[in-house]
Amino acid sequence: MHRAVPRVDAAGVTGEIANVTYHELMATRTVAFLGLGAIGRPMAARLAHAPGITLAVWNRTAERAQSFGREHGARVAATPADAARSAGVVITCLPVSADVEALLDGDAGLLATMASGTTLVDCTSGDPATSRRIAARLAERSIGYLDAPVSGGTSGAEQGTLTVMVGGDAALLDRVRPLLETFGKKIVHCGPVGAGDALKSVNNALLAVNVWSTGEGLAALARAGVRPDVALDVINASSGRSNASMNLFPERVLTREFPRTFRLALLDKDVGIAAGVAREQKVPSPLLQLTAELFRMAHVELGEEADHVEAVKLIERWAGQEIA
Ligand code: NDP
Repeated sequence: MHRAVPRVDAAGVTGEIANVTYHELMATRTVAFLGLGAIGRPMAARLAHAPGITLAVWNRTAERAQSFGREHGARVAATPADAARSAGVVITCLPVSADVEALLDGDAGLLATMASGTTLVDCTSGDPATSRRIAARLAERSIGYLDAPVSGGTSGAEQGTLTVMVGGDAALLDRVRPLLETFGKKIVHCGPVGAGDALKSVNNALLAVNVWSTGEGLAALARAGVRPDVALDVINASSGRSNASMNLFPERVLTREFPRTFRLALLDKDVGIAAGVAREQKVPSPLLQLTAELFRMAHVELGEEADHVEAVKLIERWAGQEIA
């Protein structure tokens, strides 16, 4: 029977969700989280400490899951299938959609234990085509799927202020929304499956454009005798400002700290997805295609572990000019 039931989130009872059965609501409280990387780990930690949620975690490198379990008190699962056993909602946060797809099959895979009526929420910054393929496979077993990539960085995950971009059935989103609210502040339904992935990729392509163009501009200005801190002071009071100029360059480039919070390899992947979306939609996109090429080069030059802002080091190398 469907009826209005209290909606409970990390802050307590906050309202009602119409047309959700009590059973359905309770099912969304048993959660499996797979992928405890730079951003997955603090997201899972928010879930672990939310009232009323029972959490199981799985990570490819088991030691990371074990240390998470010790720190946050979640059940540590041996395999994806073990994590998903009795879970109403499975959340994944892996580098690329293909990694999620590879977790579905086999005795240790998610499909071995995910029951009909459960939901897979993929917080990977994924690609729309693979998300649609995963959703179709799950639908054959009456398992729901939402692509739900996030923005806001590792600090946003720690503080529970991420933006979550969701593609898929809006009613399904309503059902899992209280879970997403444990780590997200702004949760937006973007359209059908794949829409969240597409929007996320374009957002990150804009980040990449700003990092690269600000780097080129500041290198040129430094060669022309303008100090980067002076240039940023003016740009940030003017129309050329961006998150790159206001936060990333002052905090990470000028200080030469380059903290590793979001791998360049992942931004390369995101810009590649955005360039692919534009090509697929037959939208002329020379700037997106060029940015994808530049970030592919930076990734190859600087390696798997470099942070995304370190792409600026390639500009500095080419220019023979440090931005400091
Ligand atoms: P990391 O590289 O820090 O972590 C990746 C995680 O995925 C690790 O837990 C890793 O396990 C696991 N993993 C990698 N490959 C596989 C595989 N083939 N099979 C199973 N597990 C695998 O990535 P992030 O946490 O930074 O990023 C995760 C996703 O979130 C990406 O799509 C990224 O684009 C997105 N994102 C990241 C942000 C950030 O600030 N970091 C911000 C917004 C989105 P192991 O421990 O064994 O290596």
